[in-house]
Amino acid sequence: MSQHAVHTETLLAHSGRAQKKAGGTVNTPVYRASTLLFPTVDALRSAYGTHHTYGRHGNPTTRALESALCELEGAHGAMLTPSGLSALTCALLATLQPGDHLLMTDSVYDPTRAFCDGALKRLGVATTYYDPTIGDGIRALMRPNTKLVFVESPGSLTFEMQDIPAISQVAHEHGAWVMLDNTWGTPIHFASFRHGVDVSVHAATKYIVGHSDVLMGVILTTEALYPRIRGFYKQLGLTVSPDDAYLALRGLRTLSVRLERHQHNARQVAQWLAAQPEVEQVLYPALPDAPGHALWKRDFTGACGLFAVQLRSMAEQAVTAMLDDMRLFGMGFSWGGFESLILLTHPGNDRTAKPWQGRGPLLRLHVGLENPEDLIADLKAGFDRMRSEPSSVGTT
Ligand SMILES: *Cc1c(COP(=O)(O)O)cnc(C)c1O
Repeated sequence: MSQHAVHTETLLAHSGRAQKKAGGTVNTPVYRASTLLFPTVDALRSAYGTHHTYGRHGNPTTRALESALCELEGAHGAMLTPSGLSALTCALLATLQPGDHLLMTDSVYDPTRAFCDGALKRLGVATTYYDPTIGDGIRALMRPNTKLVFVESPGSLTFEMQDIPAISQVAHEHGAWVMLDNTWGTPIHFASFRHGVDVSVHAATKYIVGHSDVLMGVILTTEALYPRIRGFYKQLGLTVSPDDAYLALRGLRTLSVRLERHQHNARQVAQWLAAQPEVEQVLYPALPDAPGHALWKRDFTGACGLFAVQLRSMAEQAVTAMLDDMRLFGMGFSWGGFESLILLTHPGNDRTAKPWQGRGPLLRLHVGLENPEDLIADLKAGFDRMRSEPSSVGTT
């Protein structure tokens, strides 16, 4: 790459293509290898200390993906893991030790919460959950042994935006690190390291892969934390297959065009939803009157296709009548693929710092790359089914 700093779209097309040895192919091929051979004792010795002595430490395909992700988000180092959750648990274990205190956002991805309440607790790490909108009020919760402040913005299911620069400043004043689940922001819409983050973790499963066919996670770090986390990652023996890395690289090439369409479609669907009488609020930070919009506008360069809809109180029957017969919206976990998804969620079960106020059903939508008119027609038919349920008005 030349000295001239190029734009994100150009990086997406050119990053991670340094390995031009294999027959001049545009793409770094799939390197399948467990064993690497060295011609001499000297050659083997000089490979010690690098990450290139054994297949578990990576191969040209995984390194191409790591280097592209570093370049896009501005990280010093990257580590690929078999799922987003394993990236989160590896990064947490690498940074925390018995006796440490962890500050965790109350709107965190639920399996991350389960790890804090399970494994981390057993290992002697204390977790305090905080209101995601706390901002620099986090100061009051810092303890002398607070090692890490974990942020996720917007939050899982409920989409609260966090003031990451304000939180990072307080954390750093207290000698704590900041770790972010940046899956919604993606490596191109939230420049985590410029906003004070020390470790940025992604479920690459979502938009990086982008096609609902691979599970993968990535940990991105600053130079200061890279040796610590890489060393621990190596001890755990985590690795991803070169085939999966190849698919993730293929997905990455179109990240900006896909996200542009996802957010275009999501805006149209969200605006239509906001006008329905059963809808109390659309929780999509990219909409001007949504909670957290000002922070999103200040810190993010774009949005994606994932948001939530808070419905007014109604019987569960009414909402299941809607969901059971959707034609285009699939019902399933995960998101970030090309296809639309819808899910009934229950954030109230998990919150401890700040109870979830919504009384009616909460729907999470992932708006895919279909034509938005067709998606709206599918939703409209769903609302009609909801309305024709006798129990749709005025209960629970
Ligand atoms: C899906 C998801 C994860 C976990 O990723 P997997 O690849 O499914 O393990 C982590 N964080 C967020 C915000 C997610 O949505």
